[in-house]
Amino acid sequence: MLTTLDRLRRGARAEIALETGLARSAITNLSAVLLENRLVRPVADQPPQRVGRRIEQLEIDGRHLCLIGAQLEVDQAVVVAHDLTGRELHRDEIPVRTPRDADPETVAKTIADGVAASLDRLTGVSPLSLDLVVPGGIARDAATVSCALDLGWIDVPYRTLVAARLPAFPAGVHLAGDGSLAAYAEFAALRAEPGMAGLSDVFFLKSATGVGAGVISEGQILRSALHAPGHMIVVPDGEQCECGRRGCFVTVADPEVVVRRAGLTDVRRERGLPMALDELVRRVRDGDPAARAAAEEAVFWFRILIDNANLMYEPQMVVLGGYLAAFAAELADLPETTLSTLGYGSRQGRDALVPARLGAFAAVQGALTLRRLELLSAPARSGLLSA
Ligand SMILES: [Zn+2]
Repeated sequence: MLTTLDRLRRGARAEIALETGLARSAITNLSAVLLENRLVRPVADQPPQRVGRRIEQLEIDGRHLCLIGAQLEVDQAVVVAHDLTGRELHRDEIPVRTPRDADPETVAKTIADGVAASLDRLTGVSPLSLDLVVPGGIARDAATVSCALDLGWIDVPYRTLVAARLPAFPAGVHLAGDGSLAAYAEFAALRAEPGMAGLSDVFFLKSATGVGAGVISEGQILRSALHAPGHMIVVPDGEQCECGRRGCFVTVADPEVVVRRAGLTDVRRERGLPMALDELVRRVRDGDPAARAAAEEAVFWFRILIDNANLMYEPQMVVLGGYLAAFAAELADLPETTLSTLGYGSRQGRDALVPARLGAFAAVQGALTLRRLELLSAPARSGLLSA
């Protein structure tokens, strides 16, 4: 009933009964429980009713509850809190240093302290869940970061390291990789556009501090699909990669490699990788020959990746994040056979490759959206019902 109400935004009991397929009496009883638990409330600005008839509309409430998300990226992190309606209550960027050999204990403490500080500031709301997001792959136990080479992490029990420093969350502490979640957030943003409601299959590719991807299939995250595109072999017997393979995608098109080729090593050292990539985009626009050559080579490799992903997953649209957003037009120079398979609604062929719009912290937004839907779908199991 809550997920239906979330989709409708507001609705009368009869309408909810129709949409859910439940009996009117069941909806009446459920509504009473949900009202008592402040998970729904009557809509304030109801249209005037005929005398003697009062058709009350309901909407999601839950303003006394919040969901916390904490996303860790290379050299940056953020803690975000949403209430049960999806409204952002709080956002705090946390200074964090993550060299390639970042000590997991130190990073976990920084993140846990950031979450604790946010919890202190969120007065009058009870935290339900904590979603941790990292730039890397997650093991099947959903608690361990199996591989995050940008941080130098292999098999780090990150969820436990953070959770052990914080009070318990009634709906748990969860861990996920950033690629799939960013893909979901970008997908949800696209689907909310006019004429896009039926969009279901999206390939998300980004390059910022590394190379990441996510696949949305039939409206859902395709778990474990292409979580480490940077380590697909593209050059047989190529350069040795730190993952142990030879000729991985990152050996030819990692942002560190691109920045170096563009002659931006000093900028990278002094101002960090994100600033060096911004400078790359600026110099390409200004016609700098080294920057242009470096970008052209990167685009060459990314086109191959997009083309291969297109064959594997048949997306309707491709969303390009990080600095790739600036090169959407160049990346769309794909073979005609590929372009003919891409498209949804009015966005066909080349127009089906679009820049990402949610920025570096899209993933935490995706995590909170999915957590909210999960909690709404099973309020009793989620600890939302106390009465
Ligand atoms: Zn590799």
